[in-house]
Amino acid sequence: MTHRTRLAPSPTGALHLGNARTFLVNWALARHQGWQIVMRIEDLDGPRVKHDAAQQAIDLLRWLGIDWDEGPVYQMTDLEPYRMALRKLAERGLAYPCNCTRREIEAASRSAPHADEHELRYPGTCRPAEPRSIAAASIELEECGWRFRVPDGPHPFVDQFLGEQQINVQQTVGDFQIWTKGGLPSYQLAVVVDDARQGIDRIVRGNDLVTSTPRQQLLANALDADYAPQFWHLPLVRGTDGKRLAKRHGDTRLVHYREQGVGAQRIIGLLAEWCGLGPRRTLTAEEFAAGFEIENLSQQDVLFHPTDERWL
Ligand code: GLU
Repeated sequence: MTHRTRLAPSPTGALHLGNARTFLVNWALARHQGWQIVMRIEDLDGPRVKHDAAQQAIDLLRWLGIDWDEGPVYQMTDLEPYRMALRKLAERGLAYPCNCTRREIEAASRSAPHADEHELRYPGTCRPAEPRSIAAASIELEECGWRFRVPDGPHPFVDQFLGEQQINVQQTVGDFQIWTKGGLPSYQLAVVVDDARQGIDRIVRGNDLVTSTPRQQLLANALDADYAPQFWHLPLVRGTDGKRLAKRHGDTRLVHYREQGVGAQRIIGLLAEWCGLGPRRTLTAEEFAAGFEIENLSQQDVLFHPTDERWL
């Protein structure tokens, strides 16, 4: 059986060295193992999606020497599969409408200790006491936000890179959003629907998403989806202050380097050093893939030093 993975850039910002490293590792693993690769553009983020960012991400990945077998598939092209998923959950009593604002949730809750940096625990304000089936025909999808009714209890899973994980979704984020008031599916719902319908069974991504994995597994179960991927959650690239790579660490966008005349092979050379391939040197994506071993990838986050900048 041929396994399938996906590269899934979000066109909400420009590709930087951190994203590039994750995509390069994902691609190299796929090429080593003979997995098929789907290019999926996760462009459901409404106002945060930047004009041209998707095409730019595609161009830059090609420039690095990364390729794929299918796509690009744009999520915005067809919302019907996501609507069907929402209707199914609502009919099963596993989703309910909620229009609470972030401010209301903040007021009613405290930031949960294990949740993602920007996430709050939803305190269950609109949750019906008992699961209540809502007929699909009566659902005005455009008019309200929806949340998933999260069961209580720990949710164990195995990550191929990090080992055994255990996260209690109800205690960390609570009933999370699956549909926005703006009429769009949330990342969590869309990614499960797409991973299932595109036959994705190998998922490689940044470890900022490890807390999302049990949410996605719970949603997939609730939808009876054909979904049992293996996951690799990789360390991130951070500034020397330990913060996630961002503007304050300088301009680490690939497009910036390309404009400055930095060659793709120099960038790959730096990413290669960050992936345990020894001291930096110029390298093609193919050479990277030939030398890459996941066993040599450190569990530690990578720190981006000013000397790295000088190499580029
Ligand atoms: N689109 C997400 C990102 O760029 C990746 C989602 C995923 O891999 O599940 O962070």
